[in-house]
Amino acid sequence: MHIHDVLIIGAGPCGLAVAARLHEHTPSATFTDDEHQRYHWIRKHGRRMNIKNYKTNIDSLSKHSLSQGKPEPEQTGKESKVGMLVLDADGADWMTKWNRLFKKFGIQYLRSPMFFHVDPSDRDALLGYTFEENRGTELQALPGCVGKEVSKHRKKKKRNMNGNGRVSQSGADIDERDRKDYFTPSSSLFASHCNEIKARYGLAERLIQQERVLDIEYNEIGDYQDSENDSVISDDSLDDEKKVFRVTSDKGIHLAHVVVLAIGPGNAPSIPTIPGLLSCASHVGYCHAMQLGQFPPPHMIRKIENMAATNMLIVGGGLTSIQLADLAIKRGVSKVWLLMRGSLKVKYFDVDLDWVGKFRNVNQATFWSADTDEERLEMILKARNGGSITPRYRKVLDAHMASGKISLHTYTTLQSLSWNEDLQAWTSVATSPDLPFPSIDFIVFATGIQSNITSIPFLQTMQRKYPIDCVGGLPCLSDDLMWSDDVPLFVTGRLAGLRLGPGAPNLVGARVGAERIAWNIEDVLQKIGKARREESTETTQEIADEKVMEYAAGRRNRFDSLVGVTSN
Ligand SMILES: Cc1cc2nc3c(=O)[nH]c(=O)nc-3n(C[C@H](O)[C@H](O)[C@H](O)COP(=O)(O)OP(=O)(O)OC[C@H]3O[C@@H](n4cnc5c(N)ncnc54)[C@H](O)[C@@H]3O)c2cc1C
Repeated sequence: MHIHDVLIIGAGPCGLAVAARLHEHTPSATFTDDEHQRYHWIRKHGRRMNIKNYKTNIDSLSKHSLSQGKPEPEQTGKESKVGMLVLDADGADWMTKWNRLFKKFGIQYLRSPMFFHVDPSDRDALLGYTFEENRGTELQALPGCVGKEVSKHRKKKKRNMNGNGRVSQSGADIDERDRKDYFTPSSSLFASHCNEIKARYGLAERLIQQERVLDIEYNEIGDYQDSENDSVISDDSLDDEKKVFRVTSDKGIHLAHVVVLAIGPGNAPSIPTIPGLLSCASHVGYCHAMQLGQFPPPHMIRKIENMAATNMLIVGGGLTSIQLADLAIKRGVSKVWLLMRGSLKVKYFDVDLDWVGKFRNVNQATFWSADTDEERLEMILKARNGGSITPRYRKVLDAHMASGKISLHTYTTLQSLSWNEDLQAWTSVATSPDLPFPSIDFIVFATGIQSNITSIPFLQTMQRKYPIDCVGGLPCLSDDLMWSDDVPLFVTGRLAGLRLGPGAPNLVGARVGAERIAWNIEDVLQKIGKARREESTETTQEIADEKVMEYAAGRRNRFDSLVGVTSN
């Protein structure tokens, strides 16, 4: 059986970001333009510079011809030598789940700003792509977010005024100079950019197989050979004591040196336990938002077609609740009841602006330098602060409330329900505080998904054999986003929150997580192939090139990298 270099579980934005990053040769999508320029210059012309070794007094130019002074051709991403397999439960293509949900919820624009994307080549890649493709009209401005900078005093005042479920109009939070970053892209623009990334790095669909992972083990190769008589492991360079992953899915078994978990929240959506709510896999009267089929459901569509009144109840205080309420009304539902257990929060992005705006690096530094993971968890919870809606959707909600199509109830929880099979409706709905309800045709639970790594079924074997500490359901990974220093199971996205910060569940987490993971995967793979490398498949020149790369990328000890360069 073939051993893959890297097996990525999850073909969502995080999986795509890791796969693309592993195929990108430039150092960092978090680099500034100047840093990128310097890097490219070193790659192209660095070896034409004459560097004298201070110990031997030998010129570097006299030692190697440097292709007779010709600049090195730029590598394309497709030349990556990493053998990769991607498994995804939702489909055999990148972003299947993302595309399904965006279509289902009728989302026209992303919520996140322009520098939230999965392109490893450049921090401004999505913006660059937009203008290159002449698609500037597909950007949506965020009114009130960008403008003249506001004093600290006014900001504080504004914060105090913000308890009313509205973004205050007392001034902008983002400086005018950064305006270009704070548009939001249309969903189709973002999808095209992702397609361009796939094409650029040769990440065709055939890399991906639709399989649901059921178990992961990490054992010595010999152990698998004992238990599997029919499996012949085909890597001569590996001895039986070398450890590899065995990933079992609903369709088969795969072996890999490195596994990346890019599984989003990881857990299945769960619906709160409410008396009267029949706990079955699927019920005609209710559904979790992430598992919606036809919307509105067929029995409501029949009523709408017969001009009968229809009522829907949506539970949850995030953007999905309002998006679904708006969609339901546009599709003919007479009235939607919205229940939120807390207040209605209005924010531009999922996280507070100070984690997205100018001072994000300060916050991020505080996050990284916190003493404990408990402190980090607290910062995450404070920055995200549950579900929220955007100012634009606040206006949509206001309009529907004014026309009587939506009835919003904050600080309200569902207490009990009763389903009438004959009427195909919930005929008794009790809430706290008590509200009068007509019979409800359908309930949507837009209550999000709780992430808890300890309860993810397919990670139970790993947890048993390689226990990991958790805080708030999130694993305490190494700084390299590894399960532990000895277990090359990398984790990105929401589950890597304690290392990546409050933006981990979003696209920015995908990009930054991929950045960290890719460098470390290369290190792990290099260690595995070290013996072969020392047997001189790599020339002295290639090693020198690698040193230049390390210097330019700021990896490892920069001085050490320079010593490597001058000694050739
Ligand atoms: C409706 C909606 C809109 C959003 N809009 C934005 C936005 O505009 N900007 C933003 O930054 N964020 C947004 N988010 C947050 C968004 O979820 C993340 O940005 C992004 O999807 C995270 O990517 P991911 O790859 O970590 O997870 P996911 O997109 O959830 O992908 C995880 C993948 O892993 C697969 N998987 C899970 N378990 C297994 C298993 N056992 N075996 C095989 N495969 C498995 C799943 O099938 C899935 O395809 C939005 C979220 C939702 C729900």
